[in-house]
Amino acid sequence: MIKAKTLTLSVKSLREFARKRLADQELIALDSRDECPLEIVRHMCSPDKLGIQLLFIPEEFGGFGGGAFDVYCVCEEMARIDLGVATSVLATFLGSDPITVGATPEQKKLWLSRIAEEGLLFAYGATEPDAGSDLGALQTTAERVEEDGRVVGYRINGSKQWISNGGIAGAYTVLANTPAGPSWFIVERGAAGFTHGKPEDKHGIRTSNTAALSFADVYVDADRLVGGVEGQGLLQAQAVFGYTRLMVAAFGLGAGWAALDRAIPYSAKRIQAGSPLSEKQGYTHKLIVPNVVRLEAGRAYIEQTAERIDAGEGSLNTEGAIAKYMSTEAGNAAAEASIQALGGYGYTHEYMVEKISRDVRITTIYEGTSEIMEMTISRDRWQLHLKTRGGHYHERARELEALHARHPSVGAGCAALALHALADVMERARAGRLTRHQHILLRMGEWIAYAECAEVLALRASLLAEGRLNEKANRRFDAAALAAISRIFAREAALKVAQEGMRWIVGASPEKAAGDVEAFQTAVNFSAILRAQDGLVGDMDFVADVLYGRALKPAAQVA
Ligand SMILES: Cc1cc2nc3c(=O)[nH]c(=O)nc-3n(C[C@H](O)[C@H](O)[C@H](O)COP(=O)(O)OP(=O)(O)OC[C@H]3O[C@@H](n4cnc5c(N)ncnc54)[C@H](O)[C@@H]3O)c2cc1C
Repeated sequence: MIKAKTLTLSVKSLREFARKRLADQELIALDSRDECPLEIVRHMCSPDKLGIQLLFIPEEFGGFGGGAFDVYCVCEEMARIDLGVATSVLATFLGSDPITVGATPEQKKLWLSRIAEEGLLFAYGATEPDAGSDLGALQTTAERVEEDGRVVGYRINGSKQWISNGGIAGAYTVLANTPAGPSWFIVERGAAGFTHGKPEDKHGIRTSNTAALSFADVYVDADRLVGGVEGQGLLQAQAVFGYTRLMVAAFGLGAGWAALDRAIPYSAKRIQAGSPLSEKQGYTHKLIVPNVVRLEAGRAYIEQTAERIDAGEGSLNTEGAIAKYMSTEAGNAAAEASIQALGGYGYTHEYMVEKISRDVRITTIYEGTSEIMEMTISRDRWQLHLKTRGGHYHERARELEALHARHPSVGAGCAALALHALADVMERARAGRLTRHQHILLRMGEWIAYAECAEVLALRASLLAEGRLNEKANRRFDAAALAAISRIFAREAALKVAQEGMRWIVGASPEKAAGDVEAFQTAVNFSAILRAQDGLVGDMDFVADVLYGRALKPAAQVA
């Protein structure tokens, strides 16, 4: 992990570089020309220039050895600048991942040092025309080439689809089926039989290069098999999902804030019906505040997950999925609302929010779609529910109740209601065997994400109040504002879990699982959840005042 001061300097130089080289007009022009600014990407990855990629290379190979928290901070900043350029940097990170996780010491030394010293750009080749979310369906093959009964190399055949940096990388990690199963290979640009397609004409991130790859009898030496053992590919890919999904989560967060940070000042100046839009509650409480709240819920979860990964708690795939799901969905909603917030101007290229909205769209698709995230989250927490005989979320809710007793203002009481309701909805789904409906399983993934984010946001709001938040943590909001944000989000989460949970449980099996609807409402404590909405508008007024710099004193504290 790098020091807080070094991190601040890296973010500052990134910002400074962007101000000079990637100003709005330049980005709009690149976007309209559908052009990846290769020279800028190289500048960002070059060790004697910005050297962003040094952040994620371990120190022993010439990098800074940044941890998950450092990478989140830099990814958010990159996304605030331009998600296409950020994707290019991400692709090198993803491409080197199988090496960082699974390569032999010699392979690590060779390839990670080349990234650090030469700024070598990588691409990550997993997706295929017929294998996207389900990588198990991959068809690219790597046939053994043997001499005297010894494997000396592999011959790769097949194709890859939608590969970021596909047309510009110097090296590629490619997933292919060996006789012992999927395995990663390193293929260098220029290898005989390897070609890439022309850049895809995309909806957004048009400043990134995305291309198909084609392999026709591409020969690689045996030492290009990552880790030297066949069949480890999917495990190696999964080993870093927690980490890589955090990066995309930070992209959603950064892009969402980039849009809101245009909408907020715009609305302070734009006069309609005699006063600025920022003074109209029907505007701020629909288009601005709810999006700020959901983004900060996503941030809280990203930050906690990054801290846990850095503390050595493992790869935390489910937590990475929750962080990605919440932050990228929130980022999309924020960008979409920002177009509305700018009215006709929002709909033109000049004001950037339209570009951001097209760019951020990719974050709910790559590195696992939102639906795959819902499934990942739901399946894992379902097992916890079963293992603890339904006690898991009740237990976590009790911890929040204890937090509420110490910190009545951070929304922990309401987040506890969300977790209790979640436990009850899951138990009814178990009793009625309703997860056989895939829709219920996936919706459950969303409720879990909301309830857990409410929990973590309340926790982090209390840490901020106690002055115990990690020094690298974002401090855009002070303790009073973050507490209000947390209360607003906890109310939304509790209502969502209870209302949608009841809806779909009843909808899937009225006679068996729902039983008596009134009893269901009592079990999820629906009246308490409705009572907890008390003070919602006041809290939203307060957050709006904070955002527009007119807050004088904290809003009334509610549970
Ligand atoms: C711009 C861009 C850059 C990319 N960069 C890279 C890269 O660098 N490297 C790389 O390997 N890949 C990359 N990808 C590929 C990306 O990761 C995949 O597009 C993504 O994983 C989804 O796969 P798919 O497109 O085949 O969609 P599909 O898997 O066919 O999914 C289509 C839809 O069906 C849903 N769905 C899929 N399975 C299920 C299910 N079991 N149940 C319910 N719903 C389901 C999905 O959520 C989605 O909404 C990139 C894609 C794009 C567009």
